[in-house]
Amino acid sequence: NKARVVEVYSKEGEVYENLPSVRNGKLKAWVNIMYGCDKFCTYCIVPYTRGKQRSRIKEDILKECEALVKEGYQEITLLGQNVNAYGKDLTEGGCTFGELLQEVAKLGIPRLRFTTSHPWDFTEEMFKAMGTYPNIMPFIHLPLQSGSDDVLRRMGRRYTSKDYCALVDKLREIIPHVSISTDIIVGFPNETDQDFEDTLNVVRYVKYDSAFTFIYSPRVGTPGASMEDKIPHEVKQARFKELVKVLAVYEREKAEAYVGKVIPVLVEGTSKKDKSILSGYSDTNKLVNFKGDYNHVGKIVNVKIIEATTYYLKGEEVNE
Ligand code: SF4
Repeated sequence: NKARVVEVYSKEGEVYENLPSVRNGKLKAWVNIMYGCDKFCTYCIVPYTRGKQRSRIKEDILKECEALVKEGYQEITLLGQNVNAYGKDLTEGGCTFGELLQEVAKLGIPRLRFTTSHPWDFTEEMFKAMGTYPNIMPFIHLPLQSGSDDVLRRMGRRYTSKDYCALVDKLREIIPHVSISTDIIVGFPNETDQDFEDTLNVVRYVKYDSAFTFIYSPRVGTPGASMEDKIPHEVKQARFKELVKVLAVYEREKAEAYVGKVIPVLVEGTSKKDKSILSGYSDTNKLVNFKGDYNHVGKIVNVKIIEATTYYLKGEEVNE
């Protein structure tokens, strides 16, 4: 297209502090708490391109978050390839992710989120934090990748489908209305019909609110790329279609369960398609388009849901 192509090197290095941040808008801010990853899942290039895990010092993170609260931000998302492992690489100046989550929550940000969580590193402290602080949002992105224990082992994920489901049970016990999203890869080398069925079984058990689905494609330089693969692409495509179909049933069910309920929505602005309609996200990270007061942009308001569509919920602002 005659457009300039820029290659961006992301290589391991020091964690630099006090660099200015570019932030769009004044409502939601994303704060990196760490860089890189040590997990070396066999399909993933991140540990090779971004280097080993380097966590920021707790004080620096808290200072940044405190400034955001003072500036009036309504939502902070703590970011990392695997936030649950935060601090494990620090000998001083760090803490566990559960502790960090609590400290940030105490700063009084109205909404606190985090992503991404590796199921392997979940701790009691994290459950405790999520159950104690109402400003930690009842939403979690918990990548499954596969429901087959053999595929999980070959992916280097270090949990079983049983561990994963137990984690989901525990989350739901502590936060009954928690919303769960996931990532699933189909067609990892030599995935059998039974392996795929195991994935569908976990999907049927968890009943995800939403999911990102992928057909496996090898990344040069990863162990996965040198695995021999006998599964034809058409088989992978058929499995992918089936997976999307099964996920859609639960996504629909979950969305319809909102109808008639009043939920808190952070109003971000007007809908892209209709400027007379306001738009924002629920505590559970659902997109909500609704009739309401334009003066409430930037605030958290109550919205009664009247309809669930495939991509968003429709509602009306209420004074409850
Ligand atoms: Fe790390 Fe996630 Fe990649 Fe695994 S998939 S190596 S946890 S970034």
